[in-house]
Amino acid sequence: MKRILVTGGAGFIGSHLCERLLNEGNEVICLDNYFTGSKRNIIHLLDNPYFELIRHDVTHSYFVEVDEIYNLACPASPVHYQYNPIKTIKTSVMGAINMLGLAKRIKAKVLQASTSEVYGDPLVHPQQEDYWGNVNPIGIRSCYDEGKRCAESLFLNYHRQNDVRIKIIRIFNTYGPRMLPNDGRVVSNFIVQALKGKDITIFGDGTQTRSFQYVDDLLEGMIRTMNTGDNFTGPVNIGNPNEFSMLELASAILELTNSASKITFRPLPQDDPTQRQPDISLAKQELNNWEPKIQLKEGLTKTIEYFDDLLKQENLSL
Ligand code: NAD
Ligand code: UDP
Repeated sequence: MKRILVTGGAGFIGSHLCERLLNEGNEVICLDNYFTGSKRNIIHLLDNPYFELIRHDVTHSYFVEVDEIYNLACPASPVHYQYNPIKTIKTSVMGAINMLGLAKRIKAKVLQASTSEVYGDPLVHPQQEDYWGNVNPIGIRSCYDEGKRCAESLFLNYHRQNDVRIKIIRIFNTYGPRMLPNDGRVVSNFIVQALKGKDITIFGDGTQTRSFQYVDDLLEGMIRTMNTGDNFTGPVNIGNPNEFSMLELASAILELTNSASKITFRPLPQDDPTQRQPDISLAKQELNNWEPKIQLKEGLTKTIEYFDDLLKQENLSL
């Protein structure tokens, strides 16, 4: 049994990670400030004596004895990370410093949830880990992109300078149950709109692409990365290479929900990347042939079921 700290553990991905780590027989400490996470995501874990919940902000230091740290604390949806951009930068940068300082002191292994956003609006396609990216350092996405890039630099520098055992994964667009209905990211927006019979809001002309990964595939890649030998630090791309335009995503969701919602077009936000697709050769090579198993329609079906239940419960409580 390992003792594991998960920052951002009450969020979408973090809550699934806490659950899986507990199921695998570990003791889990979940740290969160509830900015975009919620107790509802982890309420079913609260009876487990090996689960501890801490209200804390990663911009402040935190000390605990653990074997491993998964650093996920950071809002991930553009709507939320642009709400208080200075705080977003602080969360990425100071959160990384605090977790690396802790890892150094207690000799823990620490994994950073980085992002495909470090590639910005990529000029190389698909993206490999050795691509340096195309990020606008002063644009409205930079609080997130540059915060995560700085965190990657901090991770590598703590490794080089202080021998901290680090892992960096670059997560590509991931979706699944427990995203918030008002999360603002495209999959949850389209599903909630379709289920409520509201207009589907496509930003721009809908030809921009993303490669969508179901959360269970990410967890497998994330845990396998944590378990690699000390000489493997990453960064390693963890994503599903199947690429879709937003128009294709909208029509898949309309079909699966059997919805009569209409598609409407809204202005494209500034610096919105035009295409994104992971090259996962490195992950396959280093993570025992890891590759995503759940393709879009199967993953969307599970996510639609979740939101359908959630919206019915909300209607009942009104
Ligand atoms: P999320 O917003 O659901 O979860 C983030 C969690 O971090 C929330 O519970 C939030 O309350 C918490 N948090 C935010 N600021 C904090 C702070 N200062 N102190 C403590 N807790 C704080 O997002 P998610 O999709 O679960 O993303 C988790 C991580 O994975 C993030 O670091 C994100 O950048 C990264 N990531 C996610 C995706 C994706 O597609 N979902 C893609 C790339 C990277
Ligand atoms: N998007 C959209 N409608 C929405 C929300 C997002 O068309 O209601 C688009 C957005 O402009 C982007 C893509 O969907 O091109 C993915 O957006 P998301 O915020 O999910 O992730 P990110 O841009 O960070 O990859």
